[in-house]
Amino acid sequence: MNKKEIQIKFSKEISSLYRECKFKKCVFPDHTSCSEKVIKAHSIQRNKILKHIAENGMVISADIQKTLFTKEFDEIGIKSVSTFFGFCNYHDTNIFSEIENKEYVSSIEQNFLHAYRACALEYVKKEESVCFYEKAMKKYKNTPNELLFYKKLNGAIWGVKDYYSILELLSNELIKPKDEKSFEIISSIVFHLSYESFLAINASFSIEFAFQENLINDLADTSKRPAPIFLNIFPHNGKTFIIFSWLSENIETYQSIVSNLETFIPSQIEIFFSNLIIYHCENMFISPSKYSQMPKKARRLFVSQFMKTLGRDFESDYISRGTINLFKMFRK
Ligand SMILES: [Zn+2]
Repeated sequence: MNKKEIQIKFSKEISSLYRECKFKKCVFPDHTSCSEKVIKAHSIQRNKILKHIAENGMVISADIQKTLFTKEFDEIGIKSVSTFFGFCNYHDTNIFSEIENKEYVSSIEQNFLHAYRACALEYVKKEESVCFYEKAMKKYKNTPNELLFYKKLNGAIWGVKDYYSILELLSNELIKPKDEKSFEIISSIVFHLSYESFLAINASFSIEFAFQENLINDLADTSKRPAPIFLNIFPHNGKTFIIFSWLSENIETYQSIVSNLETFIPSQIEIFFSNLIIYHCENMFISPSKYSQMPKKARRLFVSQFMKTLGRDFESDYISRGTINLFKMFRK
């Protein structure tokens, strides 16, 4: 086998392990009202957002597994795009009704729900990672890859624990009677750009360094739960909305970033969030024609920077001018 054939064989084995690890459970901690069926739920609103940026029912998705070898992002049908098996029918329908069936008006409840869904998706991804790395360690025992998978497995195990505790914290508010719910446990700052960008994001991750490379989240310290960010971006009614959320109890961690963001002009906001997307957001969808219209050089840079997220844990330079302004690039 030549190098290329070995790579393809490895990639197929990896994909098959991933398929074996599909998570299918309702993540809502109180299962007393669960309906029987766990459904394929969309992490990004399908009718208003995905359909809006799709062409002929297709969007561009940044699937790291596929992109490893093709070096290009692929088109995928919006039926299966951005989906995960993390809620039963009852909880998916009831919990998210306020964002699924109503206009986005930037209410505190809607912002909470967008963050909650990002949290649930990340938890499911971490569970799938644990399963995957365990299987991969067995399959590649006594090979150089074993150690690599072992390290990743440890990170994923912490991730499951951290995200489950956050999921529980947020779910507790949803269980309470209506007038006792406190959606304020999530804080958000919402930006809107004055134009639509055909780009949709739903993601959760931790920012390790603030501006001037100040360490704000020590991800190596497993004794502390990292402070995650929940990021939702979508075009709506002639504008592009960016919902940047965090747990209110983590305000000290993100205070410096939030204060800086409040002083930013739109072009700085575009650059800052373009960098966050490139370095942290796998759950990203783009309009096919906007992606194909990207100059070849920019597209290659975009994909290669994005793929580097695999090997890198943090990025400390979110306002570099050298980056691609994704919002302008995918402007309607
Ligand atoms: Zn349920």
